[in-house]
Amino acid sequence: MTLENIRTVAVLGAGTMGNGIAHVFARSGYDVILRDVKAGFLDRAMGAISKNLDREIKKSKVAEGDKPAILGRIRATVDFSEISRADFVIEAVPEHLELKLSVLREADRLLRHEAILASNTSSISVTTLAAATSRPDRFIGMHFMNPVPVMELVEVIRALQTSEDTFGATMALCERLGKKPVAVNDAPGFVSNRVLMPMINEAAFAVMEGVATAESVDAILKLGMSHPMGPLELADFIGLDVCVNILDVLHAGFGDSKYRACPLLRKMVAAGWLGRKTGRGFYAY
Ligand code: NAD
Repeated sequence: MTLENIRTVAVLGAGTMGNGIAHVFARSGYDVILRDVKAGFLDRAMGAISKNLDREIKKSKVAEGDKPAILGRIRATVDFSEISRADFVIEAVPEHLELKLSVLREADRLLRHEAILASNTSSISVTTLAAATSRPDRFIGMHFMNPVPVMELVEVIRALQTSEDTFGATMALCERLGKKPVAVNDAPGFVSNRVLMPMINEAAFAVMEGVATAESVDAILKLGMSHPMGPLELADFIGLDVCVNILDVLHAGFGDSKYRACPLLRKMVAAGWLGRKTGRGFYAY
C-alpha cells in the first residue's frame, strides 16, 4: 500500500481519540468510515466533530463553506463489515488488551490483503497486537495526541514485524494530514509515556511527601522549564486512572521499581478523583 492508494480510512472507536482522528482525515480530503458499537456514541462523536470544526472556522483554519463537505465525508456506522472497503484502518477502542485483540482480529478478517492496520494504543505492545493478525508486516502503531485536531505530533511506532513499505506509507500519511510524525521502535510506553509518566509520578511523590503543593510543583515546571502545562495539571487532563495504568505497564514491562506508581496517585484513583473528567483531581474543576 502506498500513500497514493490510500483513499478510504476506517476509524474503530468514536470516543475522544476516534472522533479527533476521523476529523483530521476528513479535513484532509479522505473518506472516513467511523465505527462504534452504539448509534448514540456515533451521534455524540459527530456532534463533537461539528463543534471542533466551528472552533477551527473561528480561527480561520477551516473555511466555513468546507464544513458540510468535511462532515459529508464521514460515514458513521455500527456495522463492522462496512470497513471492508478501507485502505487504512486506525483502531482507537479503549485500552484493554483483550478488547483490542478481538477488534483487531475481526478487522483483519474483514480487510483485503493490502490494507494497513494501525493502533492508537498508548501503552500496549504494538508487536503483540501485530502478532495477533494475519498481516503483522502491515501493522503499525500510530499514537495521536489529545486533542487530535490541535496537536501536531504523531508518534509512529514500528512493531518488530512492520515492513518498510508500511512504515513509509504511514509516515507519509501523517504528513498529508499536516502532522509531524516521529518514528520510534516498540518498547513499553514508547518514548512519549516513558518520559512523561515518570515526571508526573515524581511530581505526585513531591506532593505526597509534602515537599510542595500541586500548584507549586506545576509553577516550577511552567516558569522554570517552559512547560505550557504543569505535570499535575496534565495528569488531571489525561486522567489519573490512565496515568496509573500506563505506569503499571512500564513497571511490568521493564521490571524496574523506578516506574512504580506513586501511592498518592493510586489513592486518588481509588477515591474516584480521576482529574477533569470527574471534576476533581489535583485541582477542582
Ligand atoms: P474512549 O473511551 O473515549 O473511546 C473509545 C470508544 O471505543 C468508545 O466510544 C467505545 O464505545 C468504543 N468501542 C468500544 N468497543 C468497540 C468496538 N468493539 N468497536 C468499535 N468501537 C468500540 O477512549 P479514548 O480516550 O478515545 O482512547 C482510545 C485509545 O486511544 C486507547 O487505546 C487510548 O489508550 C489511546 N489514547 C488515548 C489518549 C487520550 O488522551 N484520551 C491519547 C493517546 C492515545
